[in-house]
Amino acid sequence: MIRFEQVSKVYPDGTTAVDGLDFEVAEGELVTLVGPSGCGKTTTMMMVNRLIEPTSGRILMNGEDIASVDPVKLRRRIGYVIQQVGLFPHRTILDNTATVPFLTGWKKEKARARAAELLDLVGLDPSVYGSRYPEQLSGGQRQRVGVARALAADPPVLLMDEPFGAVDPVVRERLQDEFLSLQATVRKTVLLVTHDIEEAVRMGDRIAVYGQGHIEQFDTPAAVLGAP
Ligand code: ADP
Ligand code: ADP
Repeated sequence: MIRFEQVSKVYPDGTTAVDGLDFEVAEGELVTLVGPSGCGKTTTMMMVNRLIEPTSGRILMNGEDIASVDPVKLRRRIGYVIQQVGLFPHRTILDNTATVPFLTGWKKEKARARAAELLDLVGLDPSVYGSRYPEQLSGGQRQRVGVARALAADPPVLLMDEPFGAVDPVVRERLQDEFLSLQATVRKTVLLVTHDIEEAVRMGDRIAVYGQGHIEQFDTPAAVLGAP
């Protein structure tokens, strides 16, 4: 579904962030990218939504070279969840979640109904949390809103960059479990960046283990754990 063909990225200052990435992510598969800080995980992911352009090589989505897809159209097919979810502080949780459907031309009431469904899906009762403001939510709850919003346009692909990195370990485990049961129903094609090997093993159908600028191993959690 997403295919990297000999993809490299050298930043203008000469830093080689990744070199010769060559792998494929199947439709509905959740692949975790794990490795220490600075090894190229974020660069890899941001080339998928064209926030960063490869220096060489190409990335295909369903066989189509994404270099020839309009970035705005491309991003409509890609939900994006980051560590510090940016919510509009002066809008309610329901309206924050409804933003994407609303911007794509849905009527306000329909967009809000969809937002309520999405909040339900991520375990936030819309009748309780919908009318609150972001500052009235815990960090974990804000991350759930981030996931709900990324799912709003029903994109086939989700990019998640340390999505549970900013919350404490107990909440993190709950969010991981919740996301896995959500993923069992929505079956998105997911790339999830983490520096936490436990998270990578727990969440990944397969794991891409990064060394400096390249993938050292790309395999199932069992195979990665069993490796000598
Ligand atoms: P990770 O996500 O694994 O922490 P990154 O993809 O952010 O790694 O970074 C990979 C390498 O590229 C690092 O050496 C980082 O310092 C470098 N890098 C990232 N962004 C830039 C940039 N805009 N300009 C120059 N070097 C960068
Ligand atoms: P919002 O008001 O929620 O920030 P945007 O107009 O920024 O909405 O986002 C529209 C769509 O693009 C959403 O599906 C969102 O997940 C996605 N999106 C937003 N920013 C990015 C990004 N940097 N990379 C990929 N997708 C993005």
